[in-house]
Parts: sequence; structure tokens; C-alpha cells
Amino acid sequence: MASNKDYYELLGVSKNATDDELKSAFRKLAKKYHPDVNKEPGADEKFKEIGEAYSVLSDPQKRSQYDQFGHDAYKQAASQGGGGGYSYGGFGGGFSGFEGVDLDSILDDLLGGAFGFGGSRRRRNPNAKVKGDDHLANINLTFEEAAFGVEKEIALDLEETCDECSGEGGFEKKTCETCGGAGRVISEQRTMFGVFQTETSCPNCQGKGSTYAKQCSSCRGNGRVIKEKDLIINVPAGVDEHTRLRLSGKGGAAINNGPNGDLYIEFNIKPHPLFTRDGNDIFLEVPITITDAILGNKVEVPTIHGEVEVQIKEGTQSGDILKLKAKGIHDASGNKGDMFLTINVVIPKKIDRKQKKIIEELADTSLDNETVFNNFKKYATKK
Ligand SMILES: [Zn+2]
Ligand SMILES: [Zn+2]
Repeated sequence: MASNKDYYELLGVSKNATDDELKSAFRKLAKKYHPDVNKEPGADEKFKEIGEAYSVLSDPQKRSQYDQFGHDAYKQAASQGGGGGYSYGGFGGGFSGFEGVDLDSILDDLLGGAFGFGGSRRRRNPNAKVKGDDHLANINLTFEEAAFGVEKEIALDLEETCDECSGEGGFEKKTCETCGGAGRVISEQRTMFGVFQTETSCPNCQGKGSTYAKQCSSCRGNGRVIKEKDLIINVPAGVDEHTRLRLSGKGGAAINNGPNGDLYIEFNIKPHPLFTRDGNDIFLEVPITITDAILGNKVEVPTIHGEVEVQIKEGTQSGDILKLKAKGIHDASGNKGDMFLTINVVIPKKIDRKQKKIIEELADTSLDNETVFNNFKKYATKK
């Protein structure tokens, strides 16, 4: 895919950049975005873009055409793929478009193996140890399970080393006849630089240097099979929806005896009908009657650690907050959250005749003598 971005901008260099500046800029970016080291989404695409930019700008002829005709012209030419149809010459008919750019050979040729991590996704050494794939699984939890921790069983499709061939992919190993065991062959290649000889992976053995008389039918030569695996996950106390648990080595099986991939676990936590939480702290709205609010009383309050008796003071207001120390979540690291009670004084919507009589008597007393009423009245009469 041809990039839409300006090649100079992609490499972060000026239009007058020297070859050395280009090379240095490319080397830095290629190391940063190389798919072997940068697993972030988009890094792969970025890596291709900078490779494409460098493959054009590092070639004096193409660079001058790019400068002369501009990005759009160049892009149009590239998008015609098989080539030959565009007006400005120089490439002959062999130009195969940007899809044909072999980044491996560009990197090999121009950087001379400057990477410490060896090659690109199409590895130079297929016999190298490769870490297995990382996996991500989601576990559903109740509020309490998240608070206290729980043991959960999950079923996952994971790559496993093939039992039949012990991960070899075949039987009766022998030296590859095409490359004589070297894993590399010299071949002619058409690239944007024109036609030239390159050393590439042996197509017969995919660079392994060896083949098998018989391919393993169980894994189709892959060395790995995908199997459903049941795993017991010990969910620690205090996880929440931001938690990402990493289980080292519990992911996919490796290639060539490398380390297994990792398993990451994330959690969906079902909301509680009463409690909400922020980290280890738990919040609860507590409804109380007007008489409890006025006279004070002891009320029973549910917590995740069982019911507790809470003293409501005389004159408690709606919105008052009471703190119950260490009645929140006690997480696996030993941190103890608190519980916060927000008082809601509930005004009855329906009262009987007797209650009404009492309230009417109450209304005749000076209930509006509080400071808050006085301030309110003072302001109101000023107008
Ligand atoms: Zn071979
Ligand atoms: Zn197998």
C-alpha cells in the first residue's frame, strides 16, 4: 500500500537532507517501529511507511523524480502496480509498485544488520527461538468476587506444541537439497532499485536448512496445534475493571523451544444493587427516617463484611457522609479501603391521620429558627 504522507515528513528530515541524514533518520525510526520490538497497534503500518519513504528517497534517481513530480504523481504511479503505464520513465517495465518493496532486503543491504534483534517479521533465522503468542481473556465477576477474590475456571483456545511430532512439524529430518542446509539462496529480484541479485530465504525449506521426509499430519507441519484448554485462574482480592492480570508463560506455545506467550486477564464486574466502588473504597446511600434524622438513632447498615450498627446523630442532614474505616475492600496487597455512607433523609409521601395531626402540631412550633432559615429570610426581605 502506498503511503499518502510526504516522504520527507515521514522520515522527519528536510528536503535538503543529505544521504547520511536520511540514513540516520531512517535507522532511528526503523528501530523504533520495527514489528519485533514495537507491538503497539499501527507500528507495523508506520514501519512500512518509513520503509517505503526511505526506499524512494535513498535512490538518487527516484528522489529527483519525487522532488520533481511530487507525491501525488509518485503515488499514482505506484498505485498502477505492474507499471509501464505512467509517463515519466526510468523504471522500465519491471517496477512492481510499493507492494513489491522487500523491506527485508532493504534493511539487510542498507543497514548491514544494524538491528540487535535480527531481521523483521519474516525472520532471517527460522530456527530461532520465538516467544509464543500473548492472549487476552475476559472474566465476569460479581461485585463480591472482585472484592474478595475467587477461583475461576475458564476455557481458552491456545496454541500448544504438537504432541505427535514434538513441535518439529515433521518426521525423518534431512538436509535441504535446494540450499544444502544453508537456508539461504541467491536469487534475482525485481525491486524498486531495478533488477539485482539478492540472497533470500530458501523457498524449499523456508530458510530452515532442513526438510522432513514426512510432514506431520496432526499440525500440518506447523509444530503447534490449537487446543481448548481449561485453566484455573486465581483472581486476587480487589481487582477492578482497570486491572490487567498477567500470567507469565500461560499464553500460546513457543516456536523452536522459545518461551511461552503470556496470558492477560481483564475483568467485567457486575454492578452491585447497593454498593458502588472507587478503587478499594465502597460507597453506599443510607435511607433514614425524619425522626431518626431529628432525634438520632442506631441503624443497621450492610457492608461487604457483614452488617454493622451505625450511630445516627441528632440533627443529621440529607447528604451527610459517614466514614466506616477499613470497611471497604481489602485487596491482595494488604490495602484496606474505607466505606462511605451518604445519608438520605426520606420524607414520607404518605402519612396516616394520626401522623398528620402530630406533624401539624409540630408545624405550629418554631421549626424555622435555624440559622439557615434566618439567612434566607434576611436576603429575601432586602429586595
Ligand atoms: Zn533449503
Ligand atoms: Zn505435529
